[in-house]
Amino acid sequence: MFRLSEYMHQLVAPTPVRKRGSGEVKPVVIWNMTRRCNLKCRHCYTVSADVDFPGELSHEQAMETLEDLGRFRVPALILSGGEPLDRKDLFEVATRARQLVRMLALSTNGTKIHGENADRVAEIGFDYVGISIDGIGATNDWFRGVEGAFADALRGVRECKKRGIKVGLRFTITEGNHQHLPDLLKLCDDEGVDKFYLSHLVYAGRGDKNRGEDAAHKRTRKALDLLLDRAWIGVAEDMPLDIVTGNNDADAGYFLQWVRRNFDEAHVAHVRRHLAAWGGNSSGLGVANIDFLGKVHPDTYWSDYTVGNVKDTPFSELWTGDDPMLATLRTRPRPLKGRCGACKLRDVCGGNTRIRALQLTGDPWAEDPACYLSNQEIGVDTADDRLTVTPFRGKSHDPAHRFF
Ligand code: SF4
Repeated sequence: MFRLSEYMHQLVAPTPVRKRGSGEVKPVVIWNMTRRCNLKCRHCYTVSADVDFPGELSHEQAMETLEDLGRFRVPALILSGGEPLDRKDLFEVATRARQLVRMLALSTNGTKIHGENADRVAEIGFDYVGISIDGIGATNDWFRGVEGAFADALRGVRECKKRGIKVGLRFTITEGNHQHLPDLLKLCDDEGVDKFYLSHLVYAGRGDKNRGEDAAHKRTRKALDLLLDRAWIGVAEDMPLDIVTGNNDADAGYFLQWVRRNFDEAHVAHVRRHLAAWGGNSSGLGVANIDFLGKVHPDTYWSDYTVGNVKDTPFSELWTGDDPMLATLRTRPRPLKGRCGACKLRDVCGGNTRIRALQLTGDPWAEDPACYLSNQEIGVDTADDRLTVTPFRGKSHDPAHRFF
């Protein structure tokens, strides 16, 4: 996740850079509590449905896992789904989680946050509720596969605001909904939404089948321009809206170009030091995923690669064991190839989203096909034809042929 507003604040209120050693990083855990969901989103990476799926963690297994996460001192826990509110013991798990982790968030489609559910969410004291939305009105409903989903999600936003819960909108941008971005930012302002998360499409689950709809590079740049404008208004004019992006760490490089165009070299150097200390893509290091079956993955989209299962081994042991993929993901610099390997921005991008490279080429260390920066912007030799951007469209690689 790239925290655009936070790094932009460094331009007006600089703070010292805190270098993190990889050994001390504990991951933010995104936990898909259930695969069940009442919506049918076209880009759903868990391919959810409104049915009970076999093999989900029992209540006892979920509570044991939670205690382990608490002892391991994970800094943040995001309860997700499917639709997490479809899990019967969600509030019980969340109540205990509140006692064990510093930052507790709920990632939901928002349609069930009203009445008693909204009261419980407020009582438990979630630090943040992220509600997914894919456009305004009928566009959202088409993407979400259920009529009325937009109105219900918006009700969820309002119910959270009414109860003083910090709420964010999460928008996955595609070719079919990018034109809604200005209206969604306006919606945030009109409704007093605290945070806006722009998620780039990752090729996983239904997102894999819909990869042809991924926003073209120039549309991505236009979207980032809008976010940069709004984030700067937030910083310079005290109109707060915390803007973050996800699933395309090249956004950090794009932001750095913006800083270069608008500020002097000292500011560029300061921001770059902060971005390099963060290091870009965090899969397998600063972020971890537990899926609805209890399997642990380097992030939410890597369902094909499993470190182990919390039903058999505690998360803390899996995460600190000798898994070869986790070890390579934690290497800096990562063993990147193609444009990513040659890129002068890889210290601030970290090589972006490895699952996307894997799904397109079968090689997790190949260049990320969703990088929208030009060769000039990434500082590579334009004469080298290894360094052309891989086209978006293509068949997903055979999942049996993996990794090494
Ligand atoms: S070329 Fe690769 S490492 Fe460089 S900015 Fe693009 S995605 Fe990141």
